[in-house]
Amino acid sequence: RKQMRNTLGDEVDDFIWHLRWRGHEIIKSRVAKYGIDCDLKHGHLHTAMKASHMDELKATYDEALRRGMEADVTLLDAAGVRAQLGSDLYCGALKNTRNMHLHPLNLCLGEAKAAESLGALIFEHSEVLDIVHGPRPAVVTMGGRIEAKQVLLAGDVYHKLERRRLKGMIFPAMGGIVTTAPLGAELIEAINPFDLAVYDCRFVLDYYRLTGDGRLLFGGGANYSGRDSRDIAGELRPCIERTFPQLKGVQIDFQWSCAMGIVMNRIPQLGKLSSNVWYCQGYSGHGVATTHIMGEIMAKAITGDLEQFDTFAACKHIKVPLGDQLGNPMLAAGMWYYQMP
Ligand SMILES: Cc1cc2nc3c(=O)[nH]c(=O)nc-3n(C[C@H](O)[C@H](O)[C@H](O)COP(=O)(O)OP(=O)(O)OC[C@H]3O[C@@H](n4cnc5c(N)ncnc54)[C@H](O)[C@@H]3O)c2cc1C
Repeated sequence: RKQMRNTLGDEVDDFIWHLRWRGHEIIKSRVAKYGIDCDLKHGHLHTAMKASHMDELKATYDEALRRGMEADVTLLDAAGVRAQLGSDLYCGALKNTRNMHLHPLNLCLGEAKAAESLGALIFEHSEVLDIVHGPRPAVVTMGGRIEAKQVLLAGDVYHKLERRRLKGMIFPAMGGIVTTAPLGAELIEAINPFDLAVYDCRFVLDYYRLTGDGRLLFGGGANYSGRDSRDIAGELRPCIERTFPQLKGVQIDFQWSCAMGIVMNRIPQLGKLSSNVWYCQGYSGHGVATTHIMGEIMAKAITGDLEQFDTFAACKHIKVPLGDQLGNPMLAAGMWYYQMP
């Protein structure tokens, strides 16, 4: 939001404030309408690890009050955090009960099923190798070619299409996540009795929540070289044990890593590649709600309502020369700077 304000001026502030809740509304209404089982729950704790973090949280808290969210937000000191969470790591936190957390893959699968029930056709294992522009654009796969009235390219950081226009605009940062073995009721009560999603204020942050089957899911750090980390559990175990000494030696059952599509100024990117080929990408690790907002904006744009699309399209993005070769080393250097104590 700050980045958009800097780019487009203060008048976009209200627009962005209201827009940020749109993703929550869309998800909530779809989960209810289509009965999607994705462990949707309310409650976030945004934690502070030093005094300057508290200043940030206080500013967010004050704004939330100004905007009528007094029933949703509570500013906590260290003792207040301790009453919510079995950790001594934090000097304070902002609790927000309007924010939500969920199982993102189950949300995605539920939405895919709902889309199919409405007539959408989904083709898995059909990599698009090329987009052919023209009055009736087409996507080309190994097995054939599909023509359409409109094409929306939404492959985020994993595709290598349209390099002439899109090269050097987003960069992969590998994020690692682990889940522990099921913790059991006693440990859950000791570490996170209110089932909150927790994340700290650092630029390269730790984030965690409990899963539906009672494991701790913990993500943290990020590898901005664009290469995969080899030992995710080895990297994250010290972070888990520092946060919750009660979990020293806990068994880690699963680990995985995946690329986030990072945009230098953190504003999602959208635009037109030709009159009927569009793109939308780059959520910088915050895509679960944001993709729902941007999906709606793109759907409106493609059907003729360009107002919100034009606001985002007006944001200027840095395109790193030599794109993929230079972008990741630059990003890695920037992140190294932010990770320094
Ligand atoms: C480790 C990690 C943790 C994260 N944590 C959070 C979080 O806590 N909260 C949050 O909001 N966000 C989080 N994110 C970010 C979030 O997952 C992404 O922002 C979001 O998934 C982006 O959605 P998308 O649909 O644009 O892209 P994706 O989810 O990447 O989907 C793109 C799809 O396009 C397909 N595709 C790509 N190229 C082609 C091609 N050539 N042909 C056909 N198909 C293609 C891919 O297979 C993929 O299915 C996290 C990401 C990672 C990696």
